[in-house]
Amino acid sequence: MTQVKLYNSKKRFKELFEPIDTKNVRMYVCGPTVYDRAHLGNARPVVVFDMLYRLLRQVYGLKNVNYVRNFTDIDDKINSKSLETGEDIKSITDRTIDLYLQDMKELAALEPRSMPRATHFISQMIEMVTDLINKGHAYETDGHVLFDVDSYADYGSLSGRSIDDMIAGSRVEVAPYKRNPMDFILWKPSDVQTPGWDSPWGRGRPGWHIECSAMAHHHFGDSFDIHGGGNDLQFPHHENELAQSKCANPEGSFANVWIHNEMLQVEGKKMSKSLGNFFSVRDLLNQGIPGEVIRFVLLSTHYSKPMDWTQKKANEATATLRKWHGLVADIIPGKLDVVVLERVANDINTPGALARLHELAKNGDVAGLLAGAEFLGLLGQDSDWWRPQVVPSVIMQQIQNLVEARSVAKADRDFAKADEIRDKLSAAGIEIIDKPNGISEIIITSRLNLDQIR
Ligand code: AMP
Ligand code: ZN
Repeated sequence: MTQVKLYNSKKRFKELFEPIDTKNVRMYVCGPTVYDRAHLGNARPVVVFDMLYRLLRQVYGLKNVNYVRNFTDIDDKINSKSLETGEDIKSITDRTIDLYLQDMKELAALEPRSMPRATHFISQMIEMVTDLINKGHAYETDGHVLFDVDSYADYGSLSGRSIDDMIAGSRVEVAPYKRNPMDFILWKPSDVQTPGWDSPWGRGRPGWHIECSAMAHHHFGDSFDIHGGGNDLQFPHHENELAQSKCANPEGSFANVWIHNEMLQVEGKKMSKSLGNFFSVRDLLNQGIPGEVIRFVLLSTHYSKPMDWTQKKANEATATLRKWHGLVADIIPGKLDVVVLERVANDINTPGALARLHELAKNGDVAGLLAGAEFLGLLGQDSDWWRPQVVPSVIMQQIQNLVEARSVAKADRDFAKADEIRDKLSAAGIEIIDKPNGISEIIITSRLNLDQIR
């Protein structure tokens, strides 16, 4: 059996993965809060954990892997959106979940076996909170129920911080009713216009962290194999999930292996609404960038490194996929190449696996290329879309003029201008590759966006 090695963020080293039960390998991943379209950053954990899911299914068998990813459909951001727009909460969350699933399907992400919605597990959350109070790990005050971090000696073990560091380094909400400023909310009261459920502590709603603890416990019990999510969740969300779950079910280990993906950036900058570089997966699809290209780019950086989305990478991925689609047309996939499998099994080394696919393509092992690509969730799209485009000669002339102008600018050492022309072409879906012999190869990548070069 292929050995799977994973970097465990709880232990801070890479270890051999040994499932609790090889017939029931269990992975829980924190899913989206559903009030808006998934942005490109949200797609990163989806593709990373999809790759891990595919690997586990390959190694342990399709039926023996259970993957659960939740929807957070109760949250103050959803409530605010409803107040702002007048759309009711159920309609916002139902609609957003549908859109999310459509978008993730475009990225060839397999659907997890279960996708629980937090609002369907309120009674399990109330039960867990009650249990925590009974066991002396939580207290009620002012209609709120808080987790008592001082009652759990290992608090901070996941993120490797002491309580003092956590207080100093994070924006903890100081509230008069808290015994320790790090104590966090398990349950809070709801006013009349906020969704709420009856509970022993009055009408209210759960805190975010208890949702995942209760849903993971419902599906997997006291102990399971892998817990994943972006590294922005490691503290406080995962630290708090772990604390609650260990205190409620001290016999179990909760998750044995924790995996966190690094964040996505855009053209070297943090993706944020204020920088205007914030876009959804659907925005990219609407620009004519196929989901397969987005997936390829996401797989081309190791999940543990910050990843930069650039137009250039999208264009290069398009050129590669176009070439591969041409090679595998009418081919039946061969056996999965062991190097591809071993690279993914080595802490989800997808850039290594893609490098191997390039090698297979170069060596003419087309059946191996197809099998490996399918394992990575690539080349599944209809290859007609990928047939080379016919560019009208007037436009080809325009493109050639720009490429020529860039060569002249380079010869004049006016690199700013040369880069400007390259960027313009890149935005139009045309990539220039400078060959050592001084010739520039023109690659017409995706559907052309000719407005950019007029
Ligand atoms: P949220 O809906 O914000 O709770 O996020 C859903 C998932 O997307 C979580 O696993 C986050 O860690 C992840 N995520 C959010 N922003 C980014 C980003 N910029 N890059 C990578 N992952 C992200
Ligand atoms: Zn979670």
